[in-house]
Amino acid sequence: MKLFNNFIGGAWVPPDAGEFFENRNPADRDDLIGRFPMSGPTDVDRAVKSAKRGFEQWRTTPAPARGDVLRIVGDIMTRRKEEIADAMTREMGKPLTETRGDVQEGIDTAYYAASEGRRLFGHTVPSELRNKWAMSFRRPIGVAGLICPFNFPMAIPTWKMFPALVCGNSCVFKPAEDVPHTGTILVEILLEAGLPPEVIQLVHGTGEEAGAAIVEHPDVPLISFTGSTETGSIVGATCGRMHKRLSLEMGGKNAQIVMDDADLDLALEGALWGAFGTTGQRCTATSRLILQKGIHDRFLGMLVDKARALKLGDGRTKGTDVGPMINENALEKVERYIDIGLADGADLLCGGRRSGDTHLGRGNFFEPTIFARVEAGYRLEQEEIFGPVLSVIRVSTADEAFTVNNDVRYGLSSSIYTRDVNTAFRALSDLDNGITYVNAPTIGAEAHLPFGGVKQTGNGHREGGWQVYEFYSETKVGYADFSGTLQRAQIDNYRATPD
Ligand code: NAD
Repeated sequence: MKLFNNFIGGAWVPPDAGEFFENRNPADRDDLIGRFPMSGPTDVDRAVKSAKRGFEQWRTTPAPARGDVLRIVGDIMTRRKEEIADAMTREMGKPLTETRGDVQEGIDTAYYAASEGRRLFGHTVPSELRNKWAMSFRRPIGVAGLICPFNFPMAIPTWKMFPALVCGNSCVFKPAEDVPHTGTILVEILLEAGLPPEVIQLVHGTGEEAGAAIVEHPDVPLISFTGSTETGSIVGATCGRMHKRLSLEMGGKNAQIVMDDADLDLALEGALWGAFGTTGQRCTATSRLILQKGIHDRFLGMLVDKARALKLGDGRTKGTDVGPMINENALEKVERYIDIGLADGADLLCGGRRSGDTHLGRGNFFEPTIFARVEAGYRLEQEEIFGPVLSVIRVSTADEAFTVNNDVRYGLSSSIYTRDVNTAFRALSDLDNGITYVNAPTIGAEAHLPFGGVKQTGNGHREGGWQVYEFYSETKVGYADFSGTLQRAQIDNYRATPD
């Protein structure tokens, strides 16, 4: 059994209190991956002090040189992709095809960030006045606190860390307590690529202890958080009080709409992948299926047959479609929602319980579950469950489908299957989500586009693509007057001829 450490002050060190927590394979709880530091405020304080020194060194490193480090990171991740995916599946459970995709997202983000080091555009615009230049440019901010969830153990940390680093910030990174090993691998790769050691700090531990200490630290001016809306509210309250720059990416209650004119086979594949990929533990997972009445019964029949045939198992075993859930708490949460759905009068068509399959042994397996006759407004239809549970709602028209989609507090992704171009474009413009897919499932974000949601899914920032670079840098404006005279903006401007 391996004992892992934090990475603080340029060295791998144990936590101050000397306490560690266990990290176990969710597909087989007898498989102990290792013990990881249970860190607290004093560990965080040392990490922040070191990160401040790292920032002083890193902010003066030219951005293209910072990008070069990330190019090497991408190269190392490419070389080690298979081995990293295997470790991630062991730690987090989703099948190897999915963890390979998770690593690939990190690789793509690394190469995008590497090239962004040669852009980080500002603007040069005409001045109102003669012989005067007006421009804006980017400055790094300082120590970035990065708090991550368990479900994309590689992709989400890289979405935060790589842009933060290219912009010239240093980072204090806390992975979710269920995936500390992947976080450790990522930091090892950054160091191997040549990142100056004090620029990155890795602090393991619980959210309530280590996470909160990062958020509350006065020398951490920006926080990027991905996790549940409930935790995001706590983080947001602290950041509001302390006037910190904050990016929140939180929960979802995403819907796939299938219209009567859809390609049903395509919609079926999309629904299965969207609802049960990553065992439903994606922020963009399809947890609601909105079916138009003409195809409702037929589509539901096809879907239930396919869902029953999905193979539950260890993500490292060939042929596994659906892996385990992350931990016992997650299983219990799903069970609570099964009871809630039944009490509300929804029809349980398949699943609804832990797998009784004895060959699965001591894993956190829950059967893919479908509820029909779910009414808009049921808790099953409104609240994020974050497990393999799909609620089916029957509607008559596209307008009704759009209303049902929009009538939740979240707004991450949505999807519509239709062959009608007008309906498709109406969906793009009218669905209240950060992302809408046409004839594709609710999951499938690409690294070079902005990612995030509206309403209580986010606070207006985006990860991914070009937009995230604005979050990790401060815009500064510079004016250079080379006229040799006092020129007064808004007073001496717009004259056709000089005095
Ligand atoms: P979580 O909110 O339980 O934890 C997320 C992180 O916050 C963890 O690292 C945790 O240790 C930390 N944390 C917990 N309490 C804290 C506190 N008081 N102060 C500071 N940090 C604290 O979420 P999770 O279970 O790891 O992930 C699932 C949730 O994440 C779902 O709601 C899902 O929708 C959401 N998610 C959102 C996105 C997105 O981009 N919108 C992406 C992935 C996951």
